[in-house]
Amino acid sequence: MNLKRSQALYEAASRVIPGGVDSPVRAFRSVGGTPLFIARGEGSRVFDADGHEFVDFVGSWGPLIFGHAFPPVIAAIERAARMGTSFGASTALEVELAELVVQAMPSVEQVRFVNSGTEACMSALRLARAFTRRDKVIKCAGCYHGHADSMLVAAGSGALTLGVPDSPGVPVATAADTIVVPYNHPIALERAFDQAEDIAAVIVEPVAGNMGVVAPLPGFLGAARDLSARHGALLIFDEVMTGFRVGYGGAQARYDIQPDLTCLGKIIGGGLPVGAFGGRADVMAQLAPLGDVYQAGTLSGNPLAMSAGIAQLRALKDSDVYDRLESSGAALESGLTRALADAGVPARVARVGSMWTLFFTRDPVVDLDSAKSADAASYARFFHAMLEHGIYLPPSQFEAAFINLAHSKADIEQTVAAARESLDAAAA
Ligand SMILES: *Cc1c(COP(=O)(O)O)cnc(C)c1O
Repeated sequence: MNLKRSQALYEAASRVIPGGVDSPVRAFRSVGGTPLFIARGEGSRVFDADGHEFVDFVGSWGPLIFGHAFPPVIAAIERAARMGTSFGASTALEVELAELVVQAMPSVEQVRFVNSGTEACMSALRLARAFTRRDKVIKCAGCYHGHADSMLVAAGSGALTLGVPDSPGVPVATAADTIVVPYNHPIALERAFDQAEDIAAVIVEPVAGNMGVVAPLPGFLGAARDLSARHGALLIFDEVMTGFRVGYGGAQARYDIQPDLTCLGKIIGGGLPVGAFGGRADVMAQLAPLGDVYQAGTLSGNPLAMSAGIAQLRALKDSDVYDRLESSGAALESGLTRALADAGVPARVARVGSMWTLFFTRDPVVDLDSAKSADAASYARFFHAMLEHGIYLPPSQFEAAFINLAHSKADIEQTVAAARESLDAAAA
């Protein structure tokens, strides 16, 4: 594939932007090769700087549930921009989006908007610590909650570990307040609670999407709910990826578990920078200006982001969109699974609704350890072969791919056909 323009842009970018990217996974480090520079997107497709067209399964990493340049979202952004892009004062748009979120998620009585999922998680954790007057938090290995210091700890190699930082620059003392347990492991969670008294919160991705897609095993989320309640800690669902993705009410509706706090982002911003956190009114009442927990943002509740989010959530309401996503997902899963069997490749499709990962491992993936058993080199070969066949997948074995509502039956068929061609390369 001729990537002359992307290559030139990458070289120019690398002179002025560290690694040429503003977020590391974009650099293709784990699959190798030249990262694509995207010129535009339309529906299910993206077009790179060299004019290649791809069926896109990255979807901006989750926000674009209607695909690229969804006309109602674009119209809403245009309308809002003409009225002024930011005021640093309240607007009716924030009220409307907050009402949509509160109606969608019964556990969310109040919500505050921020500018990213990172900010949402960071703020929810501060609030949980203030509310419980405790310092420690439990997270699961392989779950991503943004890049705030206390969450850059994944340490666990399955065992229950006291956190050590994943990144230089994270103070050891900060990481020490983060306890890491394996995903899908209620016993480890119980042990963590038994071993520490001052646990403020458990934060978890109710469907893990940041080590590849890992569904919660039956009983895991319920155990997290019960243990948190029993020990006076708050349960925080990080639904930045799953909110309005695995169902209109998110994973909490899909699995019927009510967290105390919920983090949101991605879909609620329609492709613009946004995040939100919300939950129990008595907890949210601790936030300034009602309470003394400080949290703020110059551009929070930005009218463009609110407008995009409102347009997207309105379009997600009152229709069969989640049935359509489920059937596209099922078609893709069964097509890929047949292709794997025919090719004799030891890999499996993990999928929850429209989130999916093709793991190059024979074993079921239930936590970070089993995810790591997947062969990243096979994935890298598969990724590049798929790219040659016009399919743009996440450039890492350990990231979720997303089906959106713009993906047609033909797109799914094209993807399965491309996979049939590409699996030989992966196995090579
Ligand atoms: C994407 C993501 C985040 C971080 O959101 P940003 O907007 O990238 O800061 C946090 N948690 C989960 C579960 C995510 O998928």
